[in-house]
Amino acid sequence: CADQAMYISKANGRNRYHFFTEQMQQNAERIANLHTLLKQALEQNAFELYFQPIVDATTGLIVRAEVLLRWQHEGQFISPDEFIPIAENSGLIVSIGRCVRQAVMQTIVEMQALGWPMSLAINVSTFEFWSHELQDEFCDSFTDIIEGLGVEDFPYELITLEITESLLMKKHAHLIQVLNELRARGIKISLDDFGTGYSSLSYLANFPIDQIKIDKSFIDRLAEGERHLALIEAIVRLSHALNLRVTAEGVETQEQLQVMMDNHIQEIQGYLFYKPIPKAVFFELLAKQAVISPHS
Ligand code: C2E
Ligand code: MG
Ligand code: MG
Ligand code: MG
Repeated sequence: CADQAMYISKANGRNRYHFFTEQMQQNAERIANLHTLLKQALEQNAFELYFQPIVDATTGLIVRAEVLLRWQHEGQFISPDEFIPIAENSGLIVSIGRCVRQAVMQTIVEMQALGWPMSLAINVSTFEFWSHELQDEFCDSFTDIIEGLGVEDFPYELITLEITESLLMKKHAHLIQVLNELRARGIKISLDDFGTGYSSLSYLANFPIDQIKIDKSFIDRLAEGERHLALIEAIVRLSHALNLRVTAEGVETQEQLQVMMDNHIQEIQGYLFYKPIPKAVFFELLAKQAVISPHS
């Protein structure tokens, strides 16, 4: 009987092991496959930019937008949460990032010509700053892109770069230099997903940043009770004391909006107002808004 039990458990173990490797194999195949497809997508310019409007809490007017990358393969959207890590691990993110910057800067020029000088936020991966060389290339790319666009005075102040804490954890003097150089041109730096990583409060005081985005997970936990509310209050008070703008990300309900307004968070991004939308739809919204409030 004991022998038999041992035999069964061994067999189970083997089955589990078999299942595990099969799953790993499938994952590896999907990643390799997506990597090939990503490379093709980059060559064929098959990415699309979506825009998620960020509104003023009091007026509901669109004040800026975050640019989010979209990739459709055979009619199916593949989430950036799946393809960005693959692009990062393969180094493709550097070319993808440059493409995004190029397209966003071109859009800023178009919007300015239409009379909508609006700030657009670009997500930047920590991998785009992997080495000193990449950091310098990143910095130089703006000048190259502007040359290509053929504009005299590019409004740098309309670009916001969203970075994450994982970048700041590197703490290189060179990185700080690069961020300062970008800011000297007028580019704004925003700390994305605040409240997720280590959220060291010293980042807020010690790094050259202009803005923080409170992560959705933080907003979601508000419903769980007073302690989470206290955290938001403290973060906002500290940020404002340090002259940092605060944006709330992932606001989905009227109750969450009310908490943000009670805490003097002026900028709201979330499905309660808008989901990410294609450029044409975004432009239609701005055209309508311009008619209603030409001076906002
Ligand atoms: P993120 O920068 O934190 O962007 C916000 C994400 O939250 C977006 O997901 C947006 O669609 C989603 N979101 C905003 N409001 C709500 C809400 O009210 N409810 C819910 N459920 N979701 C909301 P998305 O577009 O899937 O992007 C996921 C992540 O992929 C981004 O997180 C960013 O880290 C990355 N990503 C997207 N585009 C780019 C890009 O061009 N470059 C890089 N490096 N990363 C990108
Ligand atoms: Mg972001
Ligand atoms: Mg975020
Ligand atoms: Mg995120």
